[in-house]
Amino acid sequence: MSPALPTGGPTRGRAIDGKAAAAALREKVAEAAREFSRKALRKPGLHVVLVGEDPASSVYVGAKEKALNAAGMTGAVHRLPTDTSEGDLLGLVRKLNSDPAVDGILVQLPLPSHLDEAKVLDTIDPAKDVDGFHVVNAGKLAVGKDALVPCTPAGCIRLLKAERGDLSGLHAVVIGRSNIVGKPMAQLLLAENATVTIAHSRTRNLPELAKTADILVAAVGRPEMVKGDWVKEGATVIDVGINRLPPAEEGGKGKLVGDVAYDEAAKHAAAITPVPGGVGPMTIAMLLANTLAAAHAREGFEAPSL
Ligand code: NDP
Repeated sequence: MSPALPTGGPTRGRAIDGKAAAAALREKVAEAAREFSRKALRKPGLHVVLVGEDPASSVYVGAKEKALNAAGMTGAVHRLPTDTSEGDLLGLVRKLNSDPAVDGILVQLPLPSHLDEAKVLDTIDPAKDVDGFHVVNAGKLAVGKDALVPCTPAGCIRLLKAERGDLSGLHAVVIGRSNIVGKPMAQLLLAENATVTIAHSRTRNLPELAKTADILVAAVGRPEMVKGDWVKEGATVIDVGINRLPPAEEGGKGKLVGDVAYDEAAKHAAAITPVPGGVGPMTIAMLLANTLAAAHAREGFEAPSL
């Protein structure tokens, strides 16, 4: 049972507990990874490539490393210096592509500015592209074929289905059209037979549009942009945003907030993901699920049901 929200309001909104959902998924993945290891006589392998020393990226990569060990998978983090040449990076990716023990390859973004992200992502074998950013996987998703799907939107859909069950016919408004969140989110909602509207920085009358949504997804990168009066009574709100506010005191760490003004929105929503503790934890759990799916596909095993 999700904890009740601290604030009251016309609708008693609930906080969607992404931590609990992610823990449950990770347990299922670990069990399926054990079964995979028994059959394949090897563990699923995930390799993460980190170029440079961006502090946020280092934290994300550390969390991924811990999660993969806990899930009974194997792999490594390849930490490369900031001045790594494109040739060296592509060489490593190609080496991982041809290594039979590697099921998943993730190149942590953003890359230092002298490296061409699109070129690097295009070099990853689509069968090992556990981030789901390769054009082949994006294309498969768009035409409704089995694909490795970007982890964050895949996690959002899992939360939504747990919350609402059948999404068929619901109006979903996705604010944001990036290739890593907004667009794949819209495709996944469409695949669930939702009626989907994609909004972006040029959208007119965004508050009115948002208020027509049964499902409102915010993936913008603007702290608390979505206000309470943008939210329809009883809507489900998925807040993908992760924004750090300026610290209140010198040397302090700023508060982490989403793209939705949580307390206000919670007065209208039936359920809403908090930040932190909502969408974030699902992203790593889905990365493990994608690695497991890639490992099964590469061995010719039936996809595990998670
Ligand atoms: P991008 O910057 O790539 O995309 C942002 C999108 O928001 C763009 O499509 C942009 O429109 C749109 N936008 C910007 N300003 C407005 C506005 N005023 N009104 C309407 N739309 C606007 O961001 P990402 O998709 O990569 O990430 C979005 C957020 O999600 C960030 O906070 C990021 O940190 C977070 N995130 C969280 C993850 C998690 O694990 N929880 C994983 C990935 C991202 P346009 O295209 O017109 O410029």
